[in-house]
Amino acid sequence: MTEQKRKLEKLAGVKGMNDVLPQDAALWEFFESTVKSMLRAYGYQNIRTPIVEHTQLFTRGIGEVTDIVEKEMYSFVDSLNGEQLTLRPEGTAAAVRATIEHNLLYDGPKRLWYIGPMFRHERPQRGRYRQFHQVGVEALGFAGPDADAEIILMCQRLWDDLGLTGIRLEINSLGLAEERARHRVELVSYLEKHVDVLDADATRRLYTNPLRVLDTKNPALQEIARNAPKLVDFLGDESRQHFEGLQRLLKANNIPFTINPRLVRGLDYYNLTVFEWVTDKLGAQGTVAAGGRYDPLIEQLGGKPTAACGWAMGVERILELLKEDDLVPHEEGCDVYVVHQGDAAREQAFIIAERLRDTGLDVILHCSPDGAPSSFKSQMKRADASGAAFAVILGEDEIASGNVAVKPLRDTSGSAEKGEQRTVPVENLTEFLINAMVATAEDGED
Ligand code: ATP
Ligand code: MG
Repeated sequence: MTEQKRKLEKLAGVKGMNDVLPQDAALWEFFESTVKSMLRAYGYQNIRTPIVEHTQLFTRGIGEVTDIVEKEMYSFVDSLNGEQLTLRPEGTAAAVRATIEHNLLYDGPKRLWYIGPMFRHERPQRGRYRQFHQVGVEALGFAGPDADAEIILMCQRLWDDLGLTGIRLEINSLGLAEERARHRVELVSYLEKHVDVLDADATRRLYTNPLRVLDTKNPALQEIARNAPKLVDFLGDESRQHFEGLQRLLKANNIPFTINPRLVRGLDYYNLTVFEWVTDKLGAQGTVAAGGRYDPLIEQLGGKPTAACGWAMGVERILELLKEDDLVPHEEGCDVYVVHQGDAAREQAFIIAERLRDTGLDVILHCSPDGAPSSFKSQMKRADASGAAFAVILGEDEIASGNVAVKPLRDTSGSAEKGEQRTVPVENLTEFLINAMVATAEDGED
């Protein structure tokens, strides 16, 4: 390839890692602000951890025999110091690491939340990307089913706040380690009887992580998975009481649920409660949020034994649902686009734009694309395209007389008079615009 050709070649983003473009920004912001106000309503505090962690955090935290650790992690050696590092595939391990490292639980339990990109080397498809986003919560230091119920209620409130319907809740209990051990013996001997039909994944997991075989997506194995010994039948009193306590609280709060005995989750740190929120509207990638209790994790990562539970939500899947359900918010343009002609007017335009911003208005000041003065017509075209509510126009004449022209740009259907350009003294401009905005907003409400 010649040097010139190489220069002309366009560079594309990494496969499975998406750009969020301005046309989708309103949707992301709507989701983020809705989720943040929900989280505030439950007293959760934000935690932000780095995107890169030591690989060991995930192998120890998530478990060696999981999809994530076996094949999905972006791991690399830091060429400067030889450290084994990984782009975080999920948020819980890092939140727990930071909690232990900074002794956040010294004065009692904590309710935490995070949002940000996660990285998994998966086959890209609808609802499954290599960089995707999760929002998640961790309720650290709460042992009872009330915390499980709380974090589930939070999801329901979020669906309601977003206007989403048809997301159903499935729950299960994974019991305690010794109960899983007893179930495992039965499960392995059951699966051994079917070893000739198991697929490669299931065969590999038969002795390393047989519970995960129940989570198979292979249609040929559904029957076998369905008839396998159920973990719920191996639960002791304590586990059963926890599970029943959760169910009572969900019923008392009118949260419908089904018990799915095959729900096991793909991460090793879970015990007792596990749950998923599932929709039928997104095809195969129908799980929009998933979580449960992970009481062993904090000790496993070097902290004092501490009960904990949480969930993680796939942001892209929720946004897809919002689009599917036509709940995309309308993106408003800014309030004012300032058009100006001549050097004196440009100086004045800066001052006026800043003054308007001081009062809280959103203002775009026309800036010439090529550095040469733009024609009045082309500026008005840009003003229209910007979606601004008003153009404020400054020409030589206006400057000389201490006035500006104000032209409403949005369709103010009905009242023809409103669409007309007005001459407004500069000192009255802010007041005029604010009154006009209030009037338009009230019109919109009718
Ligand atoms: P799956 O069974 O779909 O692979 P998972 O068990 O790996 O899901 P979790 O680790 O529980 O998923 O992540 C919580 C949520 O994050 C999922 O329910 C989903 O909404 C979202 N999610 C997980 N992986 C991806 C991905 N590769 N792309 C987009 N969203 C994802
Ligand atoms: Mg997965």
